[in-house]
Amino acid sequence: MESKQFIKSFDKDSIVFKQGDEGDSAYIIEKGSVEITVIHENKKFVLATLGEGELFGEMALVDNQVRTASVKTLESTELVVIPSDFIHQKIEMSDPTVRFFLQVIMERYRDMHTRLLNVVEGVTPKDNGEFYASTTNVVKNLMTQFLDMQTRIMEAMNTSSDVKPLNTNDVKQTRSVLTMEHKIQQGIENEEFELFYQPIKNLQTGDVDGCEALIRWNRPGIGYVSPGEFIHVAETSGQIIDLGFWIIEQGLKDCKELSSCVDRPFFTSINLSGKQFEHPTLVKDVGDLLSLSNVQPEKIKFEITESILMSDPQLASDILHGLKDTGAKLAIDDFGTGYSSFSYLHRFPFDTLKIDIAFISTMLQNKKSYEIVQSLIGLAHNLKMNVVSEGIETQYEEKALVEINSDYGQGYYFSKPVPLADMRKLLG
Ligand code: C2E
Ligand code: CA
Ligand code: CA
Repeated sequence: MESKQFIKSFDKDSIVFKQGDEGDSAYIIEKGSVEITVIHENKKFVLATLGEGELFGEMALVDNQVRTASVKTLESTELVVIPSDFIHQKIEMSDPTVRFFLQVIMERYRDMHTRLLNVVEGVTPKDNGEFYASTTNVVKNLMTQFLDMQTRIMEAMNTSSDVKPLNTNDVKQTRSVLTMEHKIQQGIENEEFELFYQPIKNLQTGDVDGCEALIRWNRPGIGYVSPGEFIHVAETSGQIIDLGFWIIEQGLKDCKELSSCVDRPFFTSINLSGKQFEHPTLVKDVGDLLSLSNVQPEKIKFEITESILMSDPQLASDILHGLKDTGAKLAIDDFGTGYSSFSYLHRFPFDTLKIDIAFISTMLQNKKSYEIVQSLIGLAHNLKMNVVSEGIETQYEEKALVEINSDYGQGYYFSKPVPLADMRKLLG
C-alpha cells in the first residue's frame, strides 16, 4: 500500500486535479474547502463546493477512467489521500455482485454526466467567460436532474437488495475508518508504534517473573494512543498482519534484553489478534522469528482470547498445537468474558489462564465474583495451568488472590504499562 504522501497541503487556489487527468487517488477534506468544476465546450461550470470531512475523486478510482471534473482549493486546504491501490483492494475483497453493481452504476453516472453537459450548450457566459451552475435556470434544472438521478441510483441500490440504506452515521463512520486506516499505514511507515510493558508479578514469591507487551501508537502532535482506539481498525483492514509481525519481532528483541536483566526465568507475553491468529503463515512466521532472534522459545507466551477460539475450535486447536510445537507458551486471555466454554479448555494446549479484570475488580464486593475467581484458579490448576489475575488495583485484591493461590498478578497496583527503558529499571 503506497501512502507516502498521506496528507497533502494546498494553498488557496491550487489545482488538486484537472478534468482529463488520470485518477490515482480519492481525497477526504481534512481542513478547508474545494470547488468542483467542469469545462464543457470551453465553458466552465461550478458543480459543487465541498468542505471538511467530504470525499471527492472516488469515481476515477472505481472504474479506472480519467477525471470528469477539476478540483480547486478555495482556501488553504489539507487533504487525506486515499490511493487507488487501497480502494482497489477493498473492491476486490467485496462480493462480485457488489462489484458488478458498482461498475454499472459508475458507467451510468458518467453517461448521465456527459449527457447533462450536452444539454447545457447554449447558455450564455458571464463577462469573464465563466458559468456558474447556480445562476442560470437551465443549469439549475440540470442540477435537479442530476441530483434526481443520484437519488434514483441510491434508491435502486437499496431496493435491489436487502441491504439497509446507509445513514449519516454509517457515512461518517466509513470516513473516519478510512482516515484512521491511512493514519495507521503512515504510522507503520514512520515507525510511530512502540511496545510498552506491564510487569507480571509472581504472587507467591513477590518477584516480577514476566511482562506483557502492549502496543502504543505515539502520534506526532497527539501523543500516546491506546490500542482500544486503533486495533479494531487495523484488524478489519488487515493491517494487523504487518503490525502483528512487527509486534512479535520487536517483542522478541525486547524479551532478550529484559531477560538479561534478571537471573531467574523471565517470560514476555505477546498478544495475538484474531486475524493474525488465523493467518496461514503465522506458525511458520513465529518459528522463523524465534530462530532468528535466538530467544529461548519458552520465554515467549502468546495470549489469545477465548472468543478467537470459538469460531472454529478445530482450526484453533491446530494453530495452537503448531504454536506450541515452536516451544512457545500459550495463555488464554480475558477468561470469563466470552463463551467460557470450560469443556473446551482441556482440548487446547494452554499453559496459562488469565482471569479477566471484570472478576478481579468486583471480587471483594461481590461474593459471586470471588467464588468464580476461586473456582477458576482451582480449575486451571486441575488442568495443569497456572493463573494470572489481571487488573489488580489494590493491596486488598492482591492479598485475597495470594490467599486463594493465584500464581501471578498484573495490574496498576504494581505498575501501569511502561516503556521498555522503564521496564528495565523496574527489574533493577
Ligand atoms: P489485554 O490484553 O487484556 O491487556 C490488558 C489491558 O488492561 C491493557 O490495556 C492494560 O493497560 C490494562 N490494565 C492492566 N492493568 C490494569 C488495571 O489494574 N486496571 C485497569 N483498569 N486496566 C489495567 P491496553 O494496553 O489499553 O490494551 C487493551 C487491549 O488492547 C489489550 O487487552 C489487548 O486486547 C489489545 N492489545 C494491546 N496490545 C496489543 C498488541 O500488541 N497486539 C494485539 N493484537 N492486541 C493488543
Ligand atoms: Ca493480553
Ligand atoms: Ca486481558
